[in-house]
Amino acid sequence: VSGAPGGASYASVAVPVPVRRLFTYEVDPSLAATLQAGSRVRVPFGPRKVVGTVVEWPAAPPEPGVAVKPIDTVLTHAGPISPALLELTRFVADYYLCSWGEAIETALPPDAGPRPVRRLARRLPAADPDALSARAVARKRVLAALPADGTLRPLQSFAPTDRRVLRALAKQGWVEIVEQAEEAAPEGEPAQPARGPTPTPGQAAVLRELEPALAAREYKPFLLYGATGSGKTEVYLRASRRVLDLGRGVLWLVPEIGLTPLLASNVSARFPGTVALMHSGLSKRQRHDAWLRVRDGRHRLVVGTRSALFAPIEDLGLIVVDEEQDGSYKQADTPRYNARDLAVVRTRAERAVLLMGSATPSMESFQHARAGRYGLLRLGGRVRQRPLPEVRLVDMRREFGLSKQVKPVSDELASELRACVERGEQALVLRNRRGWAAAVFCPTCGSRVVCPNCSVTMTWHLSAARLRCHYCGNAEAFPECCPTCGTDSLKLLGEGTERIEDILREAVPGATIERMDRDTVRGRGAHEKLLRRFDRGEIDILVGTQMIAKGHDFPRVTLVGVLSADQALGLPDFRAGERVFQLLTQVAGRAGRGERPGTVLIQAFDTEHPLLHQAAVQDYEAFFEDEVRYRRALRYPPFSALVQLIVIDREPSQARLWAGALAAALQREGRGKLIVGGPGPAPLERLQGRYRQQILVRTAGRRRLIAAVERALRAVEGEVPRRALHVDVDPYSLL
Ligand code: ADP
Ligand code: ZN
Repeated sequence: VSGAPGGASYASVAVPVPVRRLFTYEVDPSLAATLQAGSRVRVPFGPRKVVGTVVEWPAAPPEPGVAVKPIDTVLTHAGPISPALLELTRFVADYYLCSWGEAIETALPPDAGPRPVRRLARRLPAADPDALSARAVARKRVLAALPADGTLRPLQSFAPTDRRVLRALAKQGWVEIVEQAEEAAPEGEPAQPARGPTPTPGQAAVLRELEPALAAREYKPFLLYGATGSGKTEVYLRASRRVLDLGRGVLWLVPEIGLTPLLASNVSARFPGTVALMHSGLSKRQRHDAWLRVRDGRHRLVVGTRSALFAPIEDLGLIVVDEEQDGSYKQADTPRYNARDLAVVRTRAERAVLLMGSATPSMESFQHARAGRYGLLRLGGRVRQRPLPEVRLVDMRREFGLSKQVKPVSDELASELRACVERGEQALVLRNRRGWAAAVFCPTCGSRVVCPNCSVTMTWHLSAARLRCHYCGNAEAFPECCPTCGTDSLKLLGEGTERIEDILREAVPGATIERMDRDTVRGRGAHEKLLRRFDRGEIDILVGTQMIAKGHDFPRVTLVGVLSADQALGLPDFRAGERVFQLLTQVAGRAGRGERPGTVLIQAFDTEHPLLHQAAVQDYEAFFEDEVRYRRALRYPPFSALVQLIVIDREPSQARLWAGALAAALQREGRGKLIVGGPGPAPLERLQGRYRQQILVRTAGRRRLIAAVERALRAVEGEVPRRALHVDVDPYSLL
């Protein structure tokens, strides 16, 4: 123990505050026996008490003359944290430039507070009903209600008056009342145990390639590349089986909360009693208890979303990242980590296999695979030779030429929808904008109604009769006249899902049509409920935003319509094309998964765009070749590392001033090696009433880039307040 005079000892504590340093606390000898690296502790921090984590104990004493406060208490909730998790969160802090304390906080389950207790009563052998006088009717009755063999019965199952009698009997020594901490029931229905199908030759070949790695206890990353419906899930299941049989744990990451329960029940069917579900849709108590069950080794396979990456699985043998390209693996707030990328870090540290899968891999992962850094596993073709759907581009310019009006749903799509419903089959219609009208437009002055807090147009929601800002939630009544010029000729512009639903009702009379977007699926389980109804065939046409693109296997879907497919291509983000391609391929992959072939209609104005043709024939590699050329030429990821810095203030001039200082520091610290873009207004220049200046920094070397950004942030520490800064390493979206 590193001693100071008087034998005091010290611990280094990570505190969840946005300051990248550790804090030293004194350890009272009474705590010394229970303390260890990873202990959760309550410590005084300024005027308040916070919960932090001991990361070093014993630690060096403070500099002479520095006053140090003592640790208050050692907590038992979620602690002590394992050395592996400490290491992983340290990486998160150093890579994503947040504090270690903030990283640890993200990795732990929420504190669910004291556990509810259940009281149970049991009859003791000493109880002798015959010894009771004839008038002790209540005691006799209550005693008779307790099994003679001493089985416990919950107190809750007795009437309040009988509970009083039970307490009296307990005093008498005839009954025992015990307290049991209640554990939240694991989420998900108990599934019927199921055996899997025999692997197809393609699956078998992939599994043979995986086998040596699974058995080897070595780090090895793989990218499983196969069209939607090619049977990737079965590969994950068999690889999981192998790893579980070796006695090691499995982590299975999926993008969407809404889809996890469906998948989890399929996985549970294969591994009964082994699966824990972890996602943010669970209650705090459920999340906390699932975490404990995993830590205690009672569940060896975790299915979960982003934050499940930190699940305390001991002896991890495999991480599966399904749909590795998905944006929901990236967290939007501090720490802005990407679970897919951290899966690389975690599997490397734990000598495990990483199995990422996709039909449309991210540019980063496919480039890694081509360069030989990831093993590339190809799963060709659909299971049982089901053909890929026939995809047709619908030229909306031609539609306009014929009908002289811009129809959101073309005649061609409308008649295909009618035919599909008549055949008793199902259809999906994708429109990636919710609400009734995308904008409110003034034909007199040409302006659009913009959110007063954000620099975005407001969307008209008819059923709510409100104009809404999709960024800050601000809602207003429909203006009586144009806020800019005062005339009263406001027009609605562009159709959202709400309006499309309405148009479809008219175009396909008699069909059952439902809508799935963030307005219709609110609250826990709503998403899943709608998908299940669709799965059972209770809905003919499901219209919605990108939510409908991802999902389950719906064998009765034979038609998919995509509206305004080319609209998102013009967005000011270097990933705009990649995202459109992924979305189109994904939604097209929903068609024809069953016995009948599928058809996909993609409506667009710019039907010559090569990307649309590549998506139409689902030629990912052709798309990749074009896209990789563009990324290389402009030095965008995967040919550089990128950090986005946003400087925020209510005063535009203040934000500009600080951004200027930060950009200058980046230039200095970059020593001529960084490409510093900006400062300039962020694509979303105003958000929630605050102005945003953006700086984009790029360079080939990731380590060097992060180190330079860190030095620059330190250099402006006294000048630019930390709360005015958003630092996003490897940003997923630049909008
Ligand atoms: P992906 O995950 O690649 O999109 P899925 O795993 O969902 O594909 O598989 C598509 C369909 O093929 C599913 O209905 C699945 O049950 C079925 N399937 C997968 N593997 C086999 C197999 N070996 N034999 C029979 N059916 C299979
Ligand atoms: Zn707003």
